[in-house]
Amino acid sequence: MPSEFELIARYFTRPAHGARLGVGDDAALLVPSAGMELAVSTDMLLVGRHFLPGDDPQQLGHKALAVNLSDLAAMGAQPRWALLALALPEPDEDWLAAFSRGFFALAGQHGVELVGGDTTRGPLNLCVTVLGEVEAGRALTRAGARPGDEIWVSGSLGAAALGLAQVQGGLALTPAEAASCLQRLHAPEPRVALGRALQGVASAAIDVSDGLLADLGHILERSGVAAEVDIQRLPAHPAVAARTADPLVRRCLLAGGDDYELCFTAPPDRAQAVEAAGRTAGVAVTRIGRVKAGEGLVLVGADGAAMPIVERGYDHFA
Ligand code: ADP
Ligand code: MG
Repeated sequence: MPSEFELIARYFTRPAHGARLGVGDDAALLVPSAGMELAVSTDMLLVGRHFLPGDDPQQLGHKALAVNLSDLAAMGAQPRWALLALALPEPDEDWLAAFSRGFFALAGQHGVELVGGDTTRGPLNLCVTVLGEVEAGRALTRAGARPGDEIWVSGSLGAAALGLAQVQGGLALTPAEAASCLQRLHAPEPRVALGRALQGVASAAIDVSDGLLADLGHILERSGVAAEVDIQRLPAHPAVAARTADPLVRRCLLAGGDDYELCFTAPPDRAQAVEAAGRTAGVAVTRIGRVKAGEGLVLVGADGAAMPIVERGYDHFA
């Protein structure tokens, strides 16, 4: 049976050109670029909670890093380094090889280097920490939305939750719809380029990991503002858009987690700059509502009247 150190050497040690010292010592040594602040975030994926024991390890490697890069994207930061803390029930080398392949493929796409971590035996648990750089004082936060700003969202919403609903049963998607939704669920694409391009354009941003209403709610709370969102404008994934009469599907659109799109605000006179940022990043951006003075979120329906909000985002302790 391979030792802990052999596993680290085999599956998690790669040259780290952008670090003074990477994997192999007691700590990594990193030198941030001049004029930049470090953006640091950590996210854990736990078996039975965020994924199932039989899930594809290559996709898990991708997703464990992707959900973290999504947080850096929401800050407008450029990802640079990652740490990986891994608990494994047993040293399954096929699993590790596939996991490592998925992780490093996405890391390579974003110029991220794995510079350290921890490996221990235990119930399968994947915890990634990412470090990115952002021009000092220019990070996007949740706190900058102002009354009059427009609210935008990238890409499309609801597919990941619809994919999960399909896995859990009780939903009939076509094979093509199921494939597309499961891809969104298992292999989300963090909107890093969009986050970078929105710097100096967006007034506030968050990534949609717990559902649009919940995550937009965090911007409103931190910014001390209210909002009106037009349900007809929401960019529903086609499989979602085809079924919005179903309350379960409506839940996926408004409160489904795991989409990893960006929700952000910008003053109306920056609308063209937002569109340009979307083009630069190669992702659609859709205006879905407006920031108001006050507090709370109003959802406006097809008839222009306020709709009751029954959908809530995911909360591990609710
Ligand atoms: P220590 O006991 O000093 O914490 P470890 O023996 O846990 O060090 O780890 C040895 C080296 O391997 C360290 O540089 C650590 O950062 C790195 N490392 C351990 N596990 C991982 C992993 N899963 N991915 C990347 N690097 C790892
Ligand atoms: Mg250790």
